[in-house]
Amino acid sequence: MTFPPTSSPSSFHPPERLEQLRQALRRGKYQAALFDFDGTLSRLRAGWPQVMVQVLEEYWQAAGLPKDEPEQTRQQLLHLVLSTNGMPPLRQMHVFVQMVQERGGSELDPSECAATYQYRLRQLVQRRYDSLRRGETAPPQWIVPGAREMLAALQRRGLRLFLASGTEYDQVRAEADLLGLRPFFPHGIFAPQGEDLSFAKGQIIDHLLRNHDLRGEELIGFGDGVVETREVKRVGGTAIGLATSEVSEIATPTLPSSTPATMTALAASDDPTVSDKCQRLLAAGADLILSDYLALSLD
Ligand SMILES: [Mg+2]
Repeated sequence: MTFPPTSSPSSFHPPERLEQLRQALRRGKYQAALFDFDGTLSRLRAGWPQVMVQVLEEYWQAAGLPKDEPEQTRQQLLHLVLSTNGMPPLRQMHVFVQMVQERGGSELDPSECAATYQYRLRQLVQRRYDSLRRGETAPPQWIVPGAREMLAALQRRGLRLFLASGTEYDQVRAEADLLGLRPFFPHGIFAPQGEDLSFAKGQIIDHLLRNHDLRGEELIGFGDGVVETREVKRVGGTAIGLATSEVSEIATPTLPSSTPATMTALAASDDPTVSDKCQRLLAAGADLILSDYLALSLD
């Protein structure tokens, strides 16, 4: 596996880190890879931050907080959503409810906020499920470009692959099936069951190291969230940050599936969350930022 001298967005690449990573990868020391799901492998939930921000705005107003500076409020809420990316939504709502209280808003029920968000997101995701089942879209259109090839290449090299997602377990499993990605994870899919508030990616990583006889430096993590990035770095692993687009709809059902790179480029150019993710992932300690997997050579 080799990395390109630069990959977009190039302005955020500290060259010395990239070089360290390339040398490390050439030594082939990795034994296991941990993948986040949404925004890292799957695009079925692309647009979830916008859906969550919209729901939070409504609850913000319902709590009696000022609505005179809507753009500033939206930015604050987007910051909250992206800085907690990787946590289960219910935990994100607890953070939101606490923020509302600190600002003098009335008391909100995190479970209700989470249920409203899940309902709205389900509507969006359901339309995508339906388009897949009707054959209007194909799985490659909902997979981060190059992800399947990356998984296959790592598997061929003998790495054990694990999936850890803050999305509810049954949904992650069903979506991994729908995209044909589940066979890559015979060793384990980790996700919260129901309203399990105790789920934390840090604990999953500790569990993996303990139960699979791994050292932290033998772990390579791929994620678009700050939570998984920090946790992989905490144990001494290598963290690849995926600054993927959250533009919610792919172009059209008739878009040829052979043009994922173009599609991503188009989507990313309209999407402020790409640069936002990029900066957050670097601040969280990511060793390398990718906008997809196409820049990696897997020979
Ligand atoms: Mg994610």
